[in-house]
Formats: sequence, structure tokens, C-alpha cells
Amino acid sequence: MAAELLDGRETAKAIRGEISEAVRLFSEESGRAPSLAVVRLGEDPASVSYAKMISRTCEQVGVRFSPHFLAEADEKEAVELVGGLSADAGIDAIMVQEPLGGGVSREAVIAALDPDKDVDGVHPVNAGRLFQGAGDFLAPATPSGGMELLDRYGIALQGKRAVVVGRSNVVGRPMAMMLMHRNATVTVCHSRTLDLATECRRAELLVAAIGKPGFITADMVSPGAVVVDFGVNFVEGKMVGDVAFDEVSVEAGWITPVPGGTGPMTNLMLMRNVLKAAEQRRRD
Ligand code: NAP
Repeated sequence: MAAELLDGRETAKAIRGEISEAVRLFSEESGRAPSLAVVRLGEDPASVSYAKMISRTCEQVGVRFSPHFLAEADEKEAVELVGGLSADAGIDAIMVQEPLGGGVSREAVIAALDPDKDVDGVHPVNAGRLFQGAGDFLAPATPSGGMELLDRYGIALQGKRAVVVGRSNVVGRPMAMMLMHRNATVTVCHSRTLDLATECRRAELLVAAIGKPGFITADMVSPGAVVVDFGVNFVEGKMVGDVAFDEVSVEAGWITPVPGGTGPMTNLMLMRNVLKAAEQRRRD
């Protein structure tokens, strides 16, 4: 293996300490801990285990975790719940877990969310602020974690040829925006991209947010490239990324492992957003 690791586990550990300290100060000064409400509809197994992870991270950093789990997907109930939490002075931050379940309009539920409590940056107001690079706003946690990891390792972004494979609203698209705001020259690829391998090989920074195990192979990576893998896939019970790690790590200069790369960063970025929302509300 030639590539150096972008170690999300170690980096997350350092950030956890920083956030815990900031939460402690906030709680001391304001007489209450910042609070995060997590809304889930139904029992999607990945969402159930993600909520458990969020609850554990909240406990570690001192954020109050407030679970709101509905047994079934019901749009009216979900809209009322999210609207109620948005109006609740005791709640600083809200995360709505997806998938929402059959027949529930994502737009309707997200519209009920107060943009100032939207810690995963899914409300159109926050997505618009990210699009415009306008001021201080709540940005999606997953790409924020990728950016933070690159920054902590001192990877320069200005002028870099970056290729992002994937254009979802939660990972690929916001990551592309964040890179563009940092003056990278960004190409976004997707399932209709012609000759993806050629596009990828042009990248000095290659980001994979596809959802297909081992999809990015060594022939798609230029020697010395920085490779960021957001993929979380399970093959025979083992977690693997979108990048074929063993072969790509021979070509790349830097690479995120899976597990232990971008994954551990996501929850911490969520906590950072909770604190940001709480501090903003305290100032208002
Ligand atoms: P998604 O909504 O399914 O989007 C996948 C994207 O990949 C789409 O834009 C799709 O293109 C593109 N794509 C699919 N097949 C392709 C192909 N053959 N060639 C080129 N592009 C292709 O997935 P997501 O929510 O962004 O998640 C992506 C991955 O990140 C998943 O593995 C997910 O589990 C993981 N994830 C990780 C974290 C974390 O904390 N690390 C958080 C969230 C998600 P089209 O737009 O053309 O369909």
C-alpha cells in the first residue's frame, strides 16, 4: 500500500474532545445542555442502528438526546410532530431520519422543520444557503465530515481538479458545492456520465458517494490522487466502501478506509451542528 490513510477514527476522537469541551461550556453558561430531537417513522433497521449511534455520541459529548419514534409512517402525524418540535423552546436541533416510509411526502415533512434547527441541512433554505455559499448555515453532516477530514490532514483544495461521483442531496451534491466554495475545480459524475473511468482518472481529488461496493477500481484512479470514500455497503456481513480499497490504495496518495474513514466523522459533525444551532438560539 502506497497511500497514506485519512484516519477518520483518530480524527473523530480529537474532534469529540473539542466538542465535549464546547458543550460543557455552553451547558455551564446557559444552565442547560444543547438538545437534539431525532424523528423516525417505522423501524428501518439501518435507521434504528443509526439512531442508537447518535444517542451514544450525544451521551459522550453531553448533548441531550430526545427520541421521537413513530411506530408507523403517517404523514399527518409526522408533519405535526416535526412542527411541534420546531416550535418547542426546549429543543435546539432536529434530525429527521430517512427513509420516511411509503406514502409519506419528504417535502411535506421537511417543510415543517425550522431551518434554524435543521442539523442535517436538509431544509431547502439551508440547501439554498449552501448553494449560494451564503454566510453561516447548517450544512449536511456527512460531506462536512469529509471536508473536515481533508482539512485536518492539511490537504490543499484550492485549484485542485476534484471529481465527485454521486449527486444525492445528502452526500455528493453538497460535497461538490463545498469543494467549489473552497476553490476546487469540480466535476460531478452520476449514473448517466459517459466514460466515467476517464473522468475519474483526471481527478487529483476523487470522491465516491455511489452506494456500490468496490465500484471505483485502480484503473479509475490517477497515481497520487486523494480518494475520499463515503460508501457504506455490506458484503457478506462485512462493511465495505464504494472504493476497491486494496487495489486503489496502491495507486492513491491518500485514502479514507471503510470502516474508519468518513463514517466516524458524520456523527461528530452532527454534534457540531447541534451546538451551532443551540448557540445561535441563545444569541437570538
Ligand atoms: P444515493 O442517493 O443512492 O445516490 C447515489 C449516487 O450515485 C446517485 O447520484 C447515482 O447517480 C450515482 N450512481 C449510481 N450508480 C452509478 C454508476 N454506475 N455510475 C456513476 N454514478 C452512479 O446514495 P447516497 O445517499 O448519496 O449514499 C451514497 C453512499 O454513501 C452509500 O453507500 C451510503 O450508504 C453512503 N452514506 C454514507 C454516509 C457516511 O456517514 N459516511 C452517510 C450517508 C450515506 P444518479 O443520480 O444518476 O442516480
